[in-house]
Amino acid sequence: MPRLDRAVGAVLGSAVGDALGAPYEFGPAGELTARGAEMRGGGGWDPGEATDDTQMAVLLGESLLECGDLELPDVFERFRRWAAGAPKDIGLQTEDVLTSGQPWDLAAALHFQVNARAAGNGSLMRASTSAVYFAAAGREESMDAARRIAALTHGDRAAWEGTAILHELVRVCLDGADPLAALPATLAEVHPDHRERYGHVLGPDWHPGLATEFNGAVWPCLGSAVWALRTTSGFAEAVRAAVDLGGDTDTVAAVTGTLAGALYGQDAVPARWTDPLHVPLPGFGDRVLDAAALRDLARRLATAGVPAAG
Ligand SMILES: [Mg+2]
Repeated sequence: MPRLDRAVGAVLGSAVGDALGAPYEFGPAGELTARGAEMRGGGGWDPGEATDDTQMAVLLGESLLECGDLELPDVFERFRRWAAGAPKDIGLQTEDVLTSGQPWDLAAALHFQVNARAAGNGSLMRASTSAVYFAAAGREESMDAARRIAALTHGDRAAWEGTAILHELVRVCLDGADPLAALPATLAEVHPDHRERYGHVLGPDWHPGLATEFNGAVWPCLGSAVWALRTTSGFAEAVRAAVDLGGDTDTVAAVTGTLAGALYGQDAVPARWTDPLHVPLPGFGDRVLDAAALRDLARRLATAGVPAAG
């Protein structure tokens, strides 16, 4: 399969997972299967409407393309402008950081000093675009970029490391390799303070029933996405399994969709899911991206030619 199909799959897959899971956020397990209808809307979301996960991923991707590199102040400013545009949903921690009035290089760290616990999944959920963009730069640079982008809103290194793992697994998929087989080598690149805990939730014996936190936290969110990938054999099946876990359904499915899309490619993403897909961008006028615009964004990110990161 062409590398570009996998890159588009990651970005598109994340967005459809987000939209599919949105109506079930904070609901019980098994709701998607119980209701039967997919992309049905609900909980304030129209059918096919993507949430903050995809909105932030698009803003991040557009910053990378327009700046031609990772310019953290520019990414932060786009996030800040979006947060001020009254998005329908925004993570509590992300909102606190983006509306604090603090500069880009201090806001998340100051929030972490006060709140201590800051390992939400909010930097993981938006990483499809940056993972595609940095894949060509290689493992070290891609993981480093993931950490720096995560640190814009999350002061806890656990969130940085989780996002770095996701970047690396997407890079492996784009190379046509097996992301599950790459887990040991990926874990070896994780900061030593965080390696054991990620090794646990990404291990073959772990399942979401063993989670010790709500899946809005970074560890069970990433663990659940990898579990969904491991225990299914196709894109739609993996994303459905993620939504059916309940809890933070849009984000767990967005992360699962990032991985499953990168693994199975864009043709595995059902048209009945991409047809109603749309991504409003609060704070940026009336712009609404459809699936075609997301495919175009993904193609440009994958072919941008990544300069060496500093
Ligand atoms: Mg969301």
